[in-house]
Amino acid sequence: MSDAGSVDTVFVLNAGSSSLKYQLVQPESGTVVAHGVVERIGESEAKVVLVRGDDTKEFIGEIADHRAGLAKALELSRVQDRDLTSEGITAVGHRVVHGGPKFYKPTVIDDDVIEAINELEDLAPLHNPVNVLGIEAIRELLPDVPSVAVFDTAFFHGLPDHVATYAIDRELAKKHDIRRYGFHGTSHEYVSGVTAEFLGADRESLNQIVLHLGNGASASAIEGGRPVETSMGLTPLEGLVMGTRSGDVDPGVVMYLRRSADMDVDQIDTMLNRKAGLKGLGGENDFRALTEKVEEGDADATLAYKVYVHRLRKYIGAYMVTLGRTDAIVFTAGVGENAPKLRADSLAGLESFGIQIDPERNAARSREPRIISTDDSAVTVLVVPTNEELAIARQSVAALQG
Ligand code: AMP
Repeated sequence: MSDAGSVDTVFVLNAGSSSLKYQLVQPESGTVVAHGVVERIGESEAKVVLVRGDDTKEFIGEIADHRAGLAKALELSRVQDRDLTSEGITAVGHRVVHGGPKFYKPTVIDDDVIEAINELEDLAPLHNPVNVLGIEAIRELLPDVPSVAVFDTAFFHGLPDHVATYAIDRELAKKHDIRRYGFHGTSHEYVSGVTAEFLGADRESLNQIVLHLGNGASASAIEGGRPVETSMGLTPLEGLVMGTRSGDVDPGVVMYLRRSADMDVDQIDTMLNRKAGLKGLGGENDFRALTEKVEEGDADATLAYKVYVHRLRKYIGAYMVTLGRTDAIVFTAGVGENAPKLRADSLAGLESFGIQIDPERNAARSREPRIISTDDSAVTVLVVPTNEELAIARQSVAALQG
């Protein structure tokens, strides 16, 4: 650890069920010291990758669990008896998907916090237990470094009541903590902040629609820095069409499948979360692979693309009405940052709403925030790369400094 008060690097961990992503980042400058992934945890052909500057190291072999994967990453980083832990790690920041009703601020982790995150398992069975596996693995490997949980739901904690409320039995909803929580909050908060800064605008007076389009996808309407709508709900299943998730469906579909297709709840859950969306319709969850099939004239992929775009336009329209005045529409994450045709299609023909894309600006490639609308477009359309790791690192430091 470095001297009290001086923060060197933060180890940011995003643990999934059979994979984890990690990054060692300097929170002030945003410099990435190292990053990598562990894939296929629990299998004999697992893969551990460590990238440090120009140097990439890889291990393929058996990795029993999350702890073994992280231990292997540290081992790969060892040069002359020094590994990543000698890089002045002052905090570990964990992405935790569901904070439930209890957690809406970055929270320094102790045994009670771990138990409370585990207790949210019913709300996020696919995510929270595996997030805890990552927390426990790092606590074993770096016992002296404090860990902080940064919750994907936190930014949306302040959604207005009438936006967060489902129109279902109030007592039942209260008893089971059923409300719209929203997810990808770290990204929506970070990107909306960068957008305000980039435009030189006062955050308090800027109305934005942020479209986080990655494997998971969500939209938010942000008024003066505060979210007033978001597309995900109790779980990350609601809203936009995603790689493997359906987004919005009539809840009647669930009952119908249960009663008429002889499917149990777990099968329906798996279908909606893992076999739906672009994969379910077009056979590909990866947007690049899907668009290749569209270009080849594949009818299923073309329908999948059209459903994706249609849903996105529906949310953009809804959020423009929610905001009343929209100053900026911002694309981010893997698809939003890299798919110019998707950006153009999702805002095509909206000139009467004050939205005009500049085709040349839209086609240009860059890793920097940029404007892709014309100079006379009333609504400024931007591409702003997200950086959830840096946001988690900064929030972790802030939590530790109290
Ligand atoms: P993320 O979850 O933010 O990492 O985004 C992953 C998604 O971004 C995947 O569906 C990728 O296919 C998509 N993506 C990444 N690069 C591109 C690209 N150049 N063109 C289209 N989609 C891309």
